[in-house]
Amino acid sequence: MTALLSPRDILDQLVSFPTVSRDTNLPLIDWVEGYLTSHGISCGRQYSADGTKAGLYAHVGPDVTGGVVLSGHTDVVPVDGQPWTSDPFTVVEKDGKLYGRGTCDMKGFDALAIWALVEAQRLGVSRPLQIALSYDEEVGCEEVVPLIEQMTQHLPKASVVIVGEPSMMKTVTAHKGGRAFRVHVKGFEVHSSLIHTGVNAIMFGAKLIEWANQNNATAAAATPSDTAALFVPPWTSTHVGVIKGGTAGNITAKDCVFELDFRNVPDESNDEWEARLRAKVAEVEAEMQSIVPETSIELTQTFDLNGLAPEENGAAEALVRRLTGDNSENVVSYGTEAGHFQNASYSTVVCGPGDIAQAHQPDEFLSVAQLTAGQAFMRKLIDEVLS
Ligand SMILES: [Zn+2]
Repeated sequence: MTALLSPRDILDQLVSFPTVSRDTNLPLIDWVEGYLTSHGISCGRQYSADGTKAGLYAHVGPDVTGGVVLSGHTDVVPVDGQPWTSDPFTVVEKDGKLYGRGTCDMKGFDALAIWALVEAQRLGVSRPLQIALSYDEEVGCEEVVPLIEQMTQHLPKASVVIVGEPSMMKTVTAHKGGRAFRVHVKGFEVHSSLIHTGVNAIMFGAKLIEWANQNNATAAAATPSDTAALFVPPWTSTHVGVIKGGTAGNITAKDCVFELDFRNVPDESNDEWEARLRAKVAEVEAEMQSIVPETSIELTQTFDLNGLAPEENGAAEALVRRLTGDNSENVVSYGTEAGHFQNASYSTVVCGPGDIAQAHQPDEFLSVAQLTAGQAFMRKLIDEVLS
């Protein structure tokens, strides 16, 4: 007889694997796969390029389309330098709270999803339930893209995705997207007294940074769309957070490198903002090359996250509202994997246990009440939607 674990039992197991994003998550994936297979559920894996990490997907129920996907990430942020009062990789229950790294973000939801999958298998469902567990969410969300591709290749396509990031079980229908670049301005060094024959990478880079300032001013003055109006600020922001360049006060700088990012409202695409940046880069580069032809500006994308746009009559939103009874309008300022699922034409919302304020903190916790609320949600999903 195979053991039947409670969400709390599963959470204890998941937290015991220190799946910090920079390290392997394979021991956790092995454990989850072992548990699901022991209940007759077969799993697929999507490996990272170096083979040290894997995402996992599984399907329960009839071999038909139209099911529900429960999506979570398995990685957690580091605990280095944080003043924890208990071992971060052991769940400790105290005063109605479950302490441990990832309890809130988001192994609590992962545990509920694994529990629900086994329940769905045990009780039988007429509509499929699927699970998608990713890695590297905390370092960019991009690894969920190949996971989604493999799922759509190997499993019947589901219609609804619930991404269980901490939302206190509220229905979150939108968040901003983002894309970031390392901008390397490659100028030409001369003595600064001969500035007209040199190309100062810092001073040409400054034109792009001033363009970012102008974007913000223009966007802030414009009337926001209905979708944009959900956010604070209600516009796409352009930002430069790091800059390096130059070697001496009397030399035109040969190199200037800075990091520029957009946080776009979800009805404006990442691609459209990248195209605007590239047009401005081409303009500045042409000016540089008219002085010294071998100068250039190189862009390297360092981060990409699709926004989650509110859906008109979205199936995921309707489903989650029916199960939670929550009719409030919620958007969040953090990014999730939800935008990538939506981009792959799944109806998608974010809804999960716990408060994002506890995520990434020392003494991170998930309240027992939130875990219980999450379990009730899964119970209703199986009984009222899938059976
Ligand atoms: Zn998270």
